Amino acid sequence: MSVPSDTRMAPAMGDAKGRADQWIGGTWFRGQGPERQVIEPATGKVLAEIHDATVAQAHEAVAAAKAAQPLWAALPPIARARKMRDVAALIRRDQAALARLVVQEQGKPIKEAMGEIAGAAEFLEYFAEFARRLPGEILPSDFAGEEVWIRRAPVGVVAAIIPWNYPAALICRKVAPALITGNAVVVKPHEMTPLSGLALARLFDEAGLPAGLVNIVNGPGEVVGEALTGSADVGLITMTGSVPVGRRIMESAAQNLSAVSLELGGKAAFIVMPDADLDLAVRSAVTSRFMNCGQTCICNERTLVHRSIYEAFVEKFVAVTRSLKMGDPLDPNTDIGPKVSEEECAKVATMVQAALAQGARALTGGGRPAAPPSDGGFWFDPTVLVDMAPDAQIMREEIFGPVVPIVPFDTFDEAVAIANQGTLGLSSYLFTRDFHVIMEAINRIEVGEVYINRAGPEGVQGFHGGWNDSGVAGDDGLHGLEVFMRKKTVYLNYSGATTVDLMPY
Ligand code: NAD
Repeated sequence: MSVPSDTRMAPAMGDAKGRADQWIGGTWFRGQGPERQVIEPATGKVLAEIHDATVAQAHEAVAAAKAAQPLWAALPPIARARKMRDVAALIRRDQAALARLVVQEQGKPIKEAMGEIAGAAEFLEYFAEFARRLPGEILPSDFAGEEVWIRRAPVGVVAAIIPWNYPAALICRKVAPALITGNAVVVKPHEMTPLSGLALARLFDEAGLPAGLVNIVNGPGEVVGEALTGSADVGLITMTGSVPVGRRIMESAAQNLSAVSLELGGKAAFIVMPDADLDLAVRSAVTSRFMNCGQTCICNERTLVHRSIYEAFVEKFVAVTRSLKMGDPLDPNTDIGPKVSEEECAKVATMVQAALAQGARALTGGGRPAAPPSDGGFWFDPTVLVDMAPDAQIMREEIFGPVVPIVPFDTFDEAVAIANQGTLGLSSYLFTRDFHVIMEAINRIEVGEVYINRAGPEGVQGFHGGWNDSGVAGDDGLHGLEVFMRKKTVYLNYSGATTVDLMPY
């Protein structure tokens, strides 16, 4: 790996000479695959050059994980937890440098990146708490002199496939529950954002995690990702990313009947009722849309506002949107940074142009800025669209950018119907003080997560899992932890009689 000499990130990546880009079996290696440039979204310039791993290196990582896992699983959970807390402490120690790295490779504003790194540490701290609380059950048997136990066991090797939008936190979201439950992990970061994973690997190393317990391999999904998801030695594939890739991973997992947990796209409706606290709703809707430049899966993707307050809401929403400061994401005053890549920026531009061609109006923004904060970056103006065609693509498909359609509705039933359109069911928002409406929304909106009178983010103790095409299984909390464990039922008979003799009927 060659790293520009003027960047402070160099010590955070790979080995001391900054040449390694794969961490396999506790050793730093250079990828044996093609060279890849990591591009800084704010400037479009090359931030680092790494080499992709090969299929063989991905398999080596799985083998290293498989070898490390039994000893780790044999440790008392509290010993596993102590190591996890050591990693969390190192992440907190290096919070500023890690946040800077996230900004440089992914583009979110530094104040958000600081939150992402704190969140990464929190995943480790939270799941370490399960050391003395890992669940098991003892059930009464139908036979005298017998107990039925349901024990939890690790799945073995976990493949964790990570997207680019939270390149540090989402690694810890998968690694933490995997480790406390006695698994080993092979992480594959997104190919656009490999550096945060490498920086974390150095901290896993510094904390003294056993060699091979966590491995990081970089490279394209179709090569390195598929080498992991098609491996017979992987017990669980946990992936966060897009719906098409989620489908592909399920197909791949089917070869070996590996378990899968998929966190996929969203198309959240943000519903504002006439009795809502208008200022709170506006500020929350703006935050929910424009944080991370709109690149968050639970983001406000469609704002639905009751017609009686529509004009007032839109006016305030546009004013707050215009007050957002787009600029250098390393500047602590910046609210909006660049999109992650030119390709992602172009995708959003195409969607907006299609909406405008169908008669929508942009009240602010509408395209790339006339005077971007830097040349060469992937900038897109925060955009508010009204007068949408009911069947517009932008109302149905995930935008994943700083663009929001605002649509009026007349009845709550109509808002629920719009919220339930389409196949994505990750999250939804409702702003009202009416308890009856709140309960109706909770009952009727087809999503895995409902936010009442607040924007995101989700909590680590909740359960983050989408309905319908938004995912399978999920992350966080006790239910997310369960994904990382297999169950073993034990019929423990101490009666000395055969089951035929003991038959109660
Ligand atoms: P993506 O699906 O393009 O990539 C995700 C990961 O999958 C990457 O590491 C990629 O290399 C890998 N991959 C690609 N093809 C693969 C294959 N054939 N086999 C194995 N792995 C493969 O997603 P993205 O562009 O990184 O992220 C954006 C998407 O992620 C959006 O749809 C967003 O909504 C979703 N997302 C969801 C959540 C959630 O929690 N539900 C959170 C963040 C992002």
